[in-house]
Amino acid sequence: MADDCLFCRIVRKEIPAKLVAEDEHSLAFRDINPQAPVHVLVIPKEHVPSLDQASDPAMLGRLSLMAAEIARREGINGDGYRTVVNTNSAAGQTVFHIHLHLLGGRAMHWPPG
Ligand code: AMP
Ligand code: ZN
Repeated sequence: MADDCLFCRIVRKEIPAKLVAEDEHSLAFRDINPQAPVHVLVIPKEHVPSLDQASDPAMLGRLSLMAAEIARREGINGDGYRTVVNTNSAAGQTVFHIHLHLLGGRAMHWPPG
């Protein structure tokens, strides 16, 4: 846990978030500035700043599987969806607590910007 980390504060329920899923290890909530009809962030409860500093395969696997479960529940799995992990500044990472974006409910473009 990092005292001054925004997403650790959401884990501790110090900052409100629209929770979508929660288990022992992970938390999912709606992005405050959604870029698609469904835009959910899936995070580990443990503070890991970015994918560049991640080392736990189980933690990374849990993020993907929770996103897939939410996609089914939100009904976007059939049409399809995108999962994205932005890492460091060139990729546009702004919150340095690793998070997986789940985006769906509209057509996605490729390559991403
Ligand atoms: P990234 O640019 O990959 O680091 O993504 C950070 C995301 O966190 C952005 O999509 C923001 O809109 C989102 N975000 C920032 N603050 C909050 C918040 N308090 N609750 C929910 N999402 C947030
Ligand atoms: Zn954190």
